[in-house]
Amino acid sequence: MSWQDRFASALQQRKEKHLLRQRQTLQSPQSTHVTCGSSQLLNFCSNDYLGLANTGGEDLARAAQEWQFGSGASHLVCGHTRAHHDLEDALAEFSGYPRALLFSTGYMANVGVISALAQRGDLILQDKLNHASLLDGAQLSRAKMTRYRHCDYQQLNELLEAAAGDCLVVSDSIFSMDGDLADVARLAELSQHHNALLMIDDAHGIGVLGQYGQGAREHFNLSQDALPVYIGTLGKALGGYGAFVAGSEELIEYLIQFSRSYIYTTAMPPAVAQAMLGNLERAKDNKLREALTDRIEQFRSGAKARGLPLMASESPVQPLLTGASDRALRISDRLKNQGIWISAIRPPTVPQGEARLRVTLTAAHTTEDIETLLTALESAFAGDES
Ligand SMILES: *Cc1c(COP(=O)(O)O)cnc(C)c1O
Repeated sequence: MSWQDRFASALQQRKEKHLLRQRQTLQSPQSTHVTCGSSQLLNFCSNDYLGLANTGGEDLARAAQEWQFGSGASHLVCGHTRAHHDLEDALAEFSGYPRALLFSTGYMANVGVISALAQRGDLILQDKLNHASLLDGAQLSRAKMTRYRHCDYQQLNELLEAAAGDCLVVSDSIFSMDGDLADVARLAELSQHHNALLMIDDAHGIGVLGQYGQGAREHFNLSQDALPVYIGTLGKALGGYGAFVAGSEELIEYLIQFSRSYIYTTAMPPAVAQAMLGNLERAKDNKLREALTDRIEQFRSGAKARGLPLMASESPVQPLLTGASDRALRISDRLKNQGIWISAIRPPTVPQGEARLRVTLTAAHTTEDIETLLTALESAFAGDES
């Protein structure tokens, strides 16, 4: 088979299974109301949980006046600027650790941290529903990886008891496609008991969890020792771009030496790092979290009253299970015709037979937006009883 035939046949198979992905092109900035093609859509797909993606443009313009555009090199060569360094200091303080290390994306942070921490002969234990970047990092490390059943800490305990070598335990805090929250306190207790190293990916928790938005560690009231490797991302609730790992002096210094996705890549534009400082300040405003919590409660009680297939989530990620992929697509299309944008999430992003509409809520949605959403969902689901 030629390469071209291979591509064509893989695409054809995806299409037949209703799994082909198509990008939608926005004509306006990220917001609760967007222009997509020629339609105005009320947007329930973004991870912009605090509504901050639509702020900070002025900070960025000002920072670009000072720093211009490119960083010119990797951090270890000559691309590490005061802007990057200030952001690292601010992130360490925000998350409550001695130090933080800035990565260009969460994907790169996860891959680079896991592959630097674990080595051949080690065991990496991961929740079955962990983000793809955590699984990819484990593959790259050459350590052995075992996935435990979703939030099954009994099974995790058994695996830790049976383990011969050093163990790294890795979990999402809020799971990206289900919206439920790992019991990070239990993970910390088990890891400490078995001398395993715990790493939490707080991509959906930072800015959202905890009174001050500091994320999973604040929410569960854990010490730095209980949660020694903390990953936060800047592209979701913090409304910008980038990611970081926070931890001890030794951990960060070790990663600077050994994390390949940190070392062998160009530093992010310094203006982006500097503009992130403004969004980080804005994320500290508790009113945003209060508004978000109100919208989540409004959505869940309205959805329950209408008999919609809610999942067990208290987070801004509120999926509605449809089961079949074609059903998720049909309902999503119907909603789009009514001006509501919710993405259909299908395998392999979620397990077979568990396709869903992934509703995400933000502090920028109004109570009217949520009512419009609920009314549209009720009729879209009623029109598709299969
Ligand atoms: C989005 C996400 C990432 C990746 O972060 P990016 O900054 O978008 O690369 C990592 N982990 C989880 C759980 C995520 O949801």
